[in-house]
Amino acid sequence: MANGSFKKKGSAQGGANPNPKVLVAGWIGSMVLVALITVFVTYQFSEEGDQSQPGDSSQVASSGDERAVEKSSPDTQIENEGAAPDSQVAANEPEPAPEPAEPPFMPGLKLVGPRGIVQLAGVNLPPSETVASWCRDLAQRVSGVEPSDCMSGAFADSGHKSVNGRPLIVRRIEPSRNAAGSGRVLLIAATHGDELSSVGTVFDWMNIIADKGTPYEWQVAPVLNPDGLFHEPPTRVNANGVDLNRNLPTAGWAKESRDYWRRVGFEKRRFPGESAGSEPENKWLAEQIKQFKPDVIISMHAPYGVLDYDGDFPAPRKMGSLNLHRLGVYPGSLGNFASRMQGIPVITVELDDADEPPTDREMAQMFTDLNEWLDRYFRSVRQASASRTGSEAG
Ligand SMILES: [Zn+2]
Repeated sequence: MANGSFKKKGSAQGGANPNPKVLVAGWIGSMVLVALITVFVTYQFSEEGDQSQPGDSSQVASSGDERAVEKSSPDTQIENEGAAPDSQVAANEPEPAPEPAEPPFMPGLKLVGPRGIVQLAGVNLPPSETVASWCRDLAQRVSGVEPSDCMSGAFADSGHKSVNGRPLIVRRIEPSRNAAGSGRVLLIAATHGDELSSVGTVFDWMNIIADKGTPYEWQVAPVLNPDGLFHEPPTRVNANGVDLNRNLPTAGWAKESRDYWRRVGFEKRRFPGESAGSEPENKWLAEQIKQFKPDVIISMHAPYGVLDYDGDFPAPRKMGSLNLHRLGVYPGSLGNFASRMQGIPVITVELDDADEPPTDREMAQMFTDLNEWLDRYFRSVRQASASRTGSEAG
């Protein structure tokens, strides 16, 4: 608009006037006018240029790397809320989304499926529809699971399914610093489908890992028993009515599991199943142990409010407010299957409450205590291995 009116004025002034003095004055006038127009146009152009920068970069971000935008959207929302009073300034500031230098959330995602461990090309993949739908359902069911955390969590469909055909979802987290061989940790929750707080706690810990990194390689199966967890109301047992933590193929299972079941008065919630390791969820668990070869397993339960441990290395004395209290070994239990039969220490965390996860502070303290134990454990494993190598060499 302003530009157009200037041009009109210019053409009017440059109109016919035969007087030479007036011609010279007109010529000078036109030159001044041209200069003014040049200055004005340059100014306009540079203003447009400034404005176009954030727009362009966000376009690049959205077309080139959709996941970066998706991932940053919760942060962006928070920042936008903060900057709400002066939206003009916020709009001109370069937005935080186009950060190609941002470290990938989970480098080196691997899939564990029927064909073994498959290395995926990269982490900037949107979740598959299977994972997205699982995340939505989980966030609805479990307190402490945010859909955005879940969607950006690089979970993968293992290809295995529960009795009712629900996908068994897994996530691999690589060590964040150069710590190859420093230890593999398998973290499992919701073996009992009605222990919802176990899932919320695992998600909290994964957020802590995302923030602070980890020296270990983790494999996380947040919902071992989806049929129990998504049942209305949630059930301890799977869709076959089997207690998965009494069904693993442990030594002497056929007799011991029957004796056990008689002892508990044939309580349906503790039915060990018809045969050892019969359940698809447990077949998947056993395969994870075989493929991933964890050095230690953390199994999340509730609501006994204690810490249980099976293994030769000294037990963790406490995690947060939970104190060590050995619950004993059961036929078909994970502690029995992994620790007694395969020599893999198993920490069983029994949270206080089956529905609500502990407070943020408590979960953080638990995770700190867990990591201190893991550090001690893996240091001891490395020392034992080094001295073994040393004595072999000598
Ligand atoms: Zn349990």
